Amino acid sequence: MNAGVGFHIPRYAVSFVSTARSLKDVEIVEETPVEESLTPCGAALSEPVMPTRLRHRGHEIQIDAFPVGANASYIRALCQRDLTRQREEAIRKDLDGKRFIISVGRTDYTKGTRDMLLAFERLLERRPELLGTIQLLVTSVSSNPGMSVYRNVQREIEQIAGRINGRFATLSGQPLLLFTRALPFEELVAYYRCADVCWITPLRDGLNLVAKEYVAARLGMGGALVLSEFTGAAVELSSAVLTNPYSTRAMDAAIDEALDMPKDEQLRRMDVMWESVEKYDSAHWAKHIVSRFALPLKTIDPTRIAAE
Ligand code: UDP
Repeated sequence: MNAGVGFHIPRYAVSFVSTARSLKDVEIVEETPVEESLTPCGAALSEPVMPTRLRHRGHEIQIDAFPVGANASYIRALCQRDLTRQREEAIRKDLDGKRFIISVGRTDYTKGTRDMLLAFERLLERRPELLGTIQLLVTSVSSNPGMSVYRNVQREIEQIAGRINGRFATLSGQPLLLFTRALPFEELVAYYRCADVCWITPLRDGLNLVAKEYVAARLGMGGALVLSEFTGAAVELSSAVLTNPYSTRAMDAAIDEALDMPKDEQLRRMDVMWESVEKYDSAHWAKHIVSRFALPLKTIDPTRIAAE
């Protein structure tokens, strides 16, 4: 074996191989069925089989897929800390009995924040009885403020957020809170603990760790995760409310389903997802990578590949 390339999920490995084959004389030497935990039936990014060995000009290349995990044990430890509990108490006091939806992400056109906000606006139009009873917190942290494409995304998010609060705020509060600063992770965990719904619907996302972190923080608490079927994490978290962020109908149905989900169903789905997040955590991921590098691989020089 001469070299190896790793991806989050089998679909990305399949896409890489198909691109490589369209550009170069690449032979698939071996294909392997994907383990069930990474290919739920009917999911948008499922791949039942993936190429695991290629040959190009006499070199063999090993292909692998191993999604990065959340640091579940650290999140579990944080959940036990007095400070986290005090934070939770303060957040719950501020919420004053309102149901709490959280959406965490960077400012990026792939993150679908605009479409999620528009779905929230439609929710308040469709179900006016929810006004005053729910609170959405959106964090949209500027990733690259120097680039105009990100500045434009940020401006649009701020405009829509302002419009929603302009339309639906009352003297007793605003339905939407937009944070454009990053929350320290330790604080974010307290917000996860208080959130009845986590709404993560990127148009496309390599993995989306936030979804796994929400699950890791919610053991025994229930809660509903609304997750775009185009995130890498969706292949592992198929018990989430999976939705298509390009479809207004699917987005509306998903947030309704999450808000109306009975507690026993929340607990059941969350348990299934928690087991997966706990098993395939960051330590498992690190061990997998170390075991891969223990094989006789050599580092690929990308400039050499491009030249070839
Ligand atoms: N994060 C954070 N504070 C914030 C927003 C995000 O600590 O206010 C962390 C979050 O917990 C996660 C990471 O930033 O660990 C974002 O990772 P993800 O894979 O979800 O998104 P991306 O890497 O694409 O930004």
